[in-house]
Amino acid sequence: MQDQLFINGDWVAPALGGMLPVIDPATEEVFHHIPAATEADADAAVKAAREAFDHGPWPRMSGKERAVFLRAIAQGIRDRLPELARLEVRDNGKPLPEAEWDLGDAAGCFDFYAGLAEELDGEAEDIALADGRFTAKAVREPLGVAVAIVPWNYPLLMASWKVAPALAAGCTMILKPAETTSLTALELGAIVKAAGLPPGVLNILSGKGSVVGQRLVEHPQVDKVAFTGSGPVGSRIMADGARDIKRVSLELGGKSPFVVFADSDLEKAVEWIMFGIFWNQGQVCSATSRVLVERSLYAPLLARLVEEAGKIRIGNGLEKGTLLGPLVNRGQYEDVLRHIARAVEQGATVACGGRRPAGMNTGYYLEPTVLTDVPLDSDAWVEEIFGPVVCLRPFDTEEEAVALANDSRFGLAAAVMSADDARCERVAKAFRAGIVWINCSQPTFTEAPWGGYKQSGVGRELGRWGLDNYLETKQITRLVSDDPWGWYIRS
Ligand code: NAD
Repeated sequence: MQDQLFINGDWVAPALGGMLPVIDPATEEVFHHIPAATEADADAAVKAAREAFDHGPWPRMSGKERAVFLRAIAQGIRDRLPELARLEVRDNGKPLPEAEWDLGDAAGCFDFYAGLAEELDGEAEDIALADGRFTAKAVREPLGVAVAIVPWNYPLLMASWKVAPALAAGCTMILKPAETTSLTALELGAIVKAAGLPPGVLNILSGKGSVVGQRLVEHPQVDKVAFTGSGPVGSRIMADGARDIKRVSLELGGKSPFVVFADSDLEKAVEWIMFGIFWNQGQVCSATSRVLVERSLYAPLLARLVEEAGKIRIGNGLEKGTLLGPLVNRGQYEDVLRHIARAVEQGATVACGGRRPAGMNTGYYLEPTVLTDVPLDSDAWVEEIFGPVVCLRPFDTEEEAVALANDSRFGLAAAVMSADDARCERVAKAFRAGIVWINCSQPTFTEAPWGGYKQSGVGRELGRWGLDNYLETKQITRLVSDDPWGWYIRS
């Protein structure tokens, strides 16, 4: 396990020598310490990234050349996948198969952007000008020095959604993982070093968001900030970035609805709801946390959901068969418990869960929780809980379901289930959300755009949209006529 920062291709101790404890959420034990980068470390990393961008080979290489490094990084992740997955379980708490799944996706993300890097070569687009005295083309170039600030719910995967397209585009980058889950991000330093990435192209700083994150966002030599995390921090980053007109992309929270019509297959509905809210302990920005069920299916669906939720095996993510691990840390655990208590105070009924599982006195464990009778103006219906807590509510008409689904300041994701394809298409179109699932919930693909409407974010990640985040467009226009321009009459 790494215990130094990765700056300019070298491992270095943090400037003030500070370290942060790493706590296993399943045992509450401190099992490692990571470096706490300071503002001076942020400045050193920006200097290295700036130098690598302004004078180094990386932005000047062809896309094909960069793709070789990206594929080597993908392979480096795959070669160490079992070990990295165990690290993420100890850091984050998630069940091992989910961590393996995430890391496979992270490797796949580097491979995918290697392909897009190759496509950048020679993509210059001729522009047809009405004025025949000129020819013009548009070319895309790397944007500059980018900062990636990522959350703790998918540690290396969220990092790869930013690092892979930034490197593919030819940018240089400083990665700031969440302070609770920095282990695999730091290991990425070893992987890129082994892949031979030129110094300064990727720098990795663990440490507090309020210290090193803040400095990176405010640094005048940073061109772009890509952030995934909470709304309040995203809002602050947008405001701080505005001072230097930085490019800012934000992936923020959600309160995603899942509309289930009565003609749906009950068992399939239950399976997708379970996955949509209990996967990764519900700590998923797109989690289907508001389930709207057509009234005639409501009671049977609630009964089956409660029955299945009660069977979920809760335990240490490293134990075989665990489906629900602990929440990521004490702060998050207490926050979710507070949300449940407040929901009850505001009128909700706990249909199941809501408590620490009996006999599990250590670790941040919580039973999968289903809330009903949740008032529309209560916090549980309106605010992101970011835990294994789902609110269920009946509806009577399609119009009512769509109106309830869209009545949120968030707009990240939404899902609809029905046997009627035309209805699914209609509802999908009516949702005000950046990601819409029909007859399922949560599957995420590297090739497809990801991001939110409304307060769920700005911009899109993944697919070719993710690459656009790290490119500038340049117009190159050439005069091809010998005629005088004619602004004044030459004497
Ligand atoms: P957070 O906003 O507290 O922290 C996210 C990151 O920002 C961390 O690395 C943190 O250190 C850093 N940070 C904190 N303060 C900062 C500051 N002042 N300046 C710069 N950086 C700062 O969020 P979190 O608790 O780590 O993550 C949970 C949130 O992330 C949830 O709201 C969730 O919905 C959201 N999320 C969104 C997506 C998405 O794709 N839309 C994906 C995952 C998580």
